[in-house]
Amino acid sequence: MADDNLHDSPIADLLDLHTCTHGQLLALMAELGQPAFRAKQIEDWVWSKGVSSPAEMTNLPKALREALILRTASGGATELGRQASRDGSRKYLLQFKDGAAVECVGMPGPRKLSVCVSSQAGCAMGCVFCATGRSGLVRSLTAGEIYEQVMHVRNDFNTRVTSVVLMGQGEPFANYDETLKALRRLNAPDALNIGARHLTVSTCGLIPQILRFANEPEQFTLAVSLHSTIQKTRNALMPGVRRFSLVHLYAALGEYTDKTGRRPTYEFALIEGINDTDEEIDSLCNFCRGTLCHVNIIQLNEVSGSPFRPSTPERARIFVDRLARVGVEATIRNSRGSDIDAACGQLRQRFIR
Ligand code: SAH
Ligand code: SF4
Repeated sequence: MADDNLHDSPIADLLDLHTCTHGQLLALMAELGQPAFRAKQIEDWVWSKGVSSPAEMTNLPKALREALILRTASGGATELGRQASRDGSRKYLLQFKDGAAVECVGMPGPRKLSVCVSSQAGCAMGCVFCATGRSGLVRSLTAGEIYEQVMHVRNDFNTRVTSVVLMGQGEPFANYDETLKALRRLNAPDALNIGARHLTVSTCGLIPQILRFANEPEQFTLAVSLHSTIQKTRNALMPGVRRFSLVHLYAALGEYTDKTGRRPTYEFALIEGINDTDEEIDSLCNFCRGTLCHVNIIQLNEVSGSPFRPSTPERARIFVDRLARVGVEATIRNSRGSDIDAACGQLRQRFIR
């Protein structure tokens, strides 16, 4: 588990078990007169078993458990609220020690558990249809805090996590380093061992980071939120990415697919009268034609106080048919947990004013 790039504990004199390096843990073991293998045992509790309280680390000697209680802190998120959907999904609102709160969702399926996590508390990108975007950025999360959300969901469902998507609150590529560390830890054989292809990052289109992501050695999956391929409409919907024009985004995605040979997913949430017009369909077909991609047509989740409404299901089918005619695969994504405020930022809005 050696990962010497993880940050030091935010609490100055306590070692945070979710963010400390292997080296720091070894140093603490030495200081406490403990053999080095205890560090591995502790990491196993934190990263594989999802236990962060030393009191529960039953294979450690009692004296060490007591010393750890005094000398360490754990990410220690508190569950502030939860909602369960009729479709089996559960959404959680977790709060970290400094008060920052984020959402994560568990979506079970046959022999599957998909988990959606947040990369930041809030988001600075300001997308107008997004509950998170409307309330601004609180702070970025550490790799440990991203990981901890997955463990929280795993422990609640008490089953193996088969995939993780960074589609909760926040823009993962505005928190690139911590996001990558979290993905690597999720992928690590001695942690959750989730295949890289089953770890997906969704970005609103930060071009330098898309290019950087293309050069990472792991086969992580990329999703890009398009929502319009007409510059004027996209600028209005997603003001935070105005400076990354669609022409440049198109070129960057070309580089990404050339380099990786992998198929990015394009997210397109249909908003009635805004981005579901015939002109938008033509433009989207042109953007995707002849490229390696998969389009997800999403039913917009309604955000309270927002003027935007979802398009009709017929409109969604027209998008899929027209894309199919130019050889582009598209699916209409059922919005899971729509009865539990599953859209990005909605649960948080309900609990934190
Ligand atoms: N910031 C990243 C990832 C988090 S948002 C991004 O924007 O890609 C995850 C997905 O939810 C994005 O595709 C985003 O556009 C979408 N989304 C946000 N608000 C939504 C809403 N009200 N209805 C449907 N999808 C929404
Ligand atoms: Fe941020 Fe993504 Fe919401 Fe846009 S859609 S405000 S990038 S979380």
